[in-house]
Amino acid sequence: MYLKRIELHGFKSFADRVILEFQPGINAIVGPNGSGKSNIIDAIRWVLGEQSVKTLRGYKLEDVIFAGSNKKKPMGMAEVAITIDNFDNLIPLDYSEIYLVRRTFRSGESEFYLNRTPCRLKDIQEILIDSGVGKDGYSIISQGQIDEMLTCKAEERRTIFEETAGIVKYRIRKKEAEKRLEETMDNISRIDDIITELL
Ligand code: ATP
Repeated sequence: MYLKRIELHGFKSFADRVILEFQPGINAIVGPNGSGKSNIIDAIRWVLGEQSVKTLRGYKLEDVIFAGSNKKKPMGMAEVAITIDNFDNLIPLDYSEIYLVRRTFRSGESEFYLNRTPCRLKDIQEILIDSGVGKDGYSIISQGQIDEMLTCKAEERRTIFEETAGIVKYRIRKKEAEKRLEETMDNISRIDDIITELL
């Protein structure tokens, strides 16, 4: 699996549609300060489902939309599309390529597409959680994060290793199962009450 292509349109500094193609192995994005290198990383995080405005280096949700420049008017919509080569089926879907699109409008509306079919953010998060590419999968290591890992407390470091090892998904599923169990126990207790009343 590797990131094959990214298309940006109206996302942060990328007003015009820009397409970047990547090859398997190491790829480097180079450019002068402020030319948009980190914005490309933000775009990848965003299309993979990042919801935290702070992680995306903004103050409000619409900061991902092109805000205008001396030559261009602000835009009303930001769109990012990525193509992931899934030749090894690490993403458990029967497609050799996964095409993800996220769009957002100034009105606050958002749209997600998985292989051109409209879907929910949750659908994207769920298919990515097993692959290690999700937003919590440490597939993106940002500036300062390595220093943070080296200086953090032992328990915090353990959490990072657990997340990298893919244990997070089991923790999420455990929590969901516990919630369902609790609801079922409530239902059983309610049924018991009804039976007692009927007897
Ligand atoms: P450095 O090498 O200094 O880290 P960089 O190449 O990573 O720089 P970025 O941080 O990706 O640069 O881009 C910063 C630029 O993006 C700034 O000029 C900023 O004004 C612009 N920018 C960020 N958000 C928006 C937006 N919503 N609309 C227009 N421009 C934006």
